Amino acid sequence: MNYTQLIFELSKPGRRGHTIPECDVPERPVEELLGRNHLRRNAAPLPEVAENEVVRHFVALSQLNHNVDKGFYPLGSCTMKYNPKINERLAANSGFAALHPDLPEQFVQGALQIMYELQQDLLEITGFTAITLQPAAGAQGEFVGLLLMQQYHRNKGRDRKTILIPDSAHGTNPASAAIAGFKTVTVASNPGGMIDLTDLQSKINDDVAGLMLTNPNTLGIFEKQIPQIRQALDTVDALFYMDGANMNALFGIVRPGDLGFDVMHLNLHKSFSTPHGGGGPGSGPVAVNEKLSEFLPGATVEFNDGFYYFSDNGEKSIGEIHSFYGNFALLLRAYVYIRSVGAKGFRKVAESAIINANYLLARLKEYYDPGYQGVTMHEFVLSAEKQKQRGIKALDIAKRLLDFGVHPPTVYFPLIVKEAMMIEPTETESKESLDYFADAMIQIDREID
Ligand SMILES: *Cc1c(COP(=O)(O)O)cnc(C)c1O
Repeated sequence: MNYTQLIFELSKPGRRGHTIPECDVPERPVEELLGRNHLRRNAAPLPEVAENEVVRHFVALSQLNHNVDKGFYPLGSCTMKYNPKINERLAANSGFAALHPDLPEQFVQGALQIMYELQQDLLEITGFTAITLQPAAGAQGEFVGLLLMQQYHRNKGRDRKTILIPDSAHGTNPASAAIAGFKTVTVASNPGGMIDLTDLQSKINDDVAGLMLTNPNTLGIFEKQIPQIRQALDTVDALFYMDGANMNALFGIVRPGDLGFDVMHLNLHKSFSTPHGGGGPGSGPVAVNEKLSEFLPGATVEFNDGFYYFSDNGEKSIGEIHSFYGNFALLLRAYVYIRSVGAKGFRKVAESAIINANYLLARLKEYYDPGYQGVTMHEFVLSAEKQKQRGIKALDIAKRLLDFGVHPPTVYFPLIVKEAMMIEPTETESKESLDYFADAMIQIDREID
């Protein structure tokens, strides 16, 4: 049997996946029940297959897709770490999965308690004072963060239009700023891959609403000049946004709230081990300090007098941005993950993610040029420029990697490195799987010769 055939090609007239018991009530012709004008002239061309053929067909299709349960998935900036199965067990628990979102608060105390405790945990991890769990993706979190920044300035009677974005930022940052109605101005990087402070100074003016910093940035570099950037923004009362999708490199080590950021988003589906890819679902909570808390969307979970309930945020709120609970099943997975990793475990997660990336970089840098020199955080960028001169591009290397059963890295991003290959191994890989990947990359380099 050929499992890559279309299911229609497997069809044999009369083959069935079910047997229906004989009818024990008088039969009436369907024409009589529905009316002849509602019937098709010809039977629908549906595949006629047995149950096991259906199962094998779809299992075979599912295995054609690469996934973290099947093999290494070092797709840079995506944190494709392994997702512990206990998350799935608990998310599928019918006490949660079968809740109706319209149930009154007194019947969903357990779900609200989990959301409340997750809010507390994420505030502890990030060092902020208030949080919304509503946004349904990292990019939607950015959008919410930008609306909060807009509201902050409007509340002070000014309508600022400019968002500063370093050229090492994730691509969703300028896109979200544009959708929120801002104009974006790019800030250049210095040769070390951090913000060029002179270029930043030249772009600070009283139309700047804020700056969005991906940290670590898309080169895998931790921005060390945060106090200087903060100071420059303070001269015009502009806000400091951290794109926290790369929190996998930081948690347990530093807290963005302590570093001086005003607002950040997290990607629960990346750093907190929820399966993702194929466009969703996601969850991008937004945490803020006191400057912005009154503007948060409604429906944060509060606890008072033994009772959990949704707050209505005040008049200054930007308003709800998702129906009901946000993506509750993802919140639940993140909660289970946080509770099973534990406070000490988080630091280990980040350290292992950083060590794994640096190990791979050390093994590969004599074959592929690093985008930037020095140690890296949880991911790094290689350039296939040297390989391209021998006739093989980053894209060809990515395709060849598929033959080794691993997902290729992110290619041609970030834009500031030519023939970029952005590699994020994550902390869940063993030394053996890192070596397997490094050996494959080195073999490909030899094959080019
Ligand atoms: C993935 C990512 C985003 C966007 O998050 P989505 O959930 O895909 O919308 C933003 N910034 C960075 C750095 C990312 O890695």
